Amino acid sequence: MVSLQALFGGTFDPIHYGHLQTVEALAHQVGLRQVTLLPNNVPPHRPQPEASAAQRVAMVELAIADRPLFNLDTRELMRQTPSWTVETLEQLRAERGAQQPLAFIIGQDSLLSLHKWHRWEALLDLCHLLVCQRPGYPGTMPTPALQQWLTQHQTTDAEALHRQPAGLIWLADTPLVPVSATDIRQRRHQGMPCDDLLPAAVIDYINRQGLYRP
Ligand code: ATP
Repeated sequence: MVSLQALFGGTFDPIHYGHLQTVEALAHQVGLRQVTLLPNNVPPHRPQPEASAAQRVAMVELAIADRPLFNLDTRELMRQTPSWTVETLEQLRAERGAQQPLAFIIGQDSLLSLHKWHRWEALLDLCHLLVCQRPGYPGTMPTPALQQWLTQHQTTDAEALHRQPAGLIWLADTPLVPVSATDIRQRRHQGMPCDDLLPAAVIDYINRQGLYRP
């Protein structure tokens, strides 16, 4: 059987334990051998990351150096223009073939606003969605129609994720990790410590680069 390949997109400004610990727990639950991190380009009309693309990549590299579950794909940062997730998934699908089970990992907050993503309804044609819990976000979708969409696609059969190439939603029973990149940046701006929120090697890098300064 071909094994399920999982991708995890994010701004990673900076990468933190909310990303790493939840996805490690998810991987254990559904049997993922590898998770590919996809740092994204932020469209010009949205608030820009404080760290440069190169700095975000460097922080991801430091965070995953001793975490063999993860690898890194910088394709979205290599392009001149920001890419939509659906387009990156189309590219990955074309590369890996129609039968390869693919999954895209998101947090609960992203699930709740997924209907605002470009061509969101095409996502499940391309991949499964694996959803990590996130503290502070409701467990139900914002409209009955979206809740129905979720119910229609939801599975509690982890093996089905490995059998089928795409189309299922798995709501993971992951630990609630109350960390966000926004909170880390704010704490740093206020000169507060962030020791338990992200790996020490990433904190060292942030200090050396003078990122998120007061
Ligand atoms: P920001 O605070 O800058 O918006 P963030 O902490 O949400 O950043 P992103 O890089 O934007 O981090 O997130 C990438 C993905 O990780 C998203 O799908 C998001 O839902 C998920 N995620 C981030 N933090 C957590 C967390 N603490 N628990 C579960 N999922 C998370």
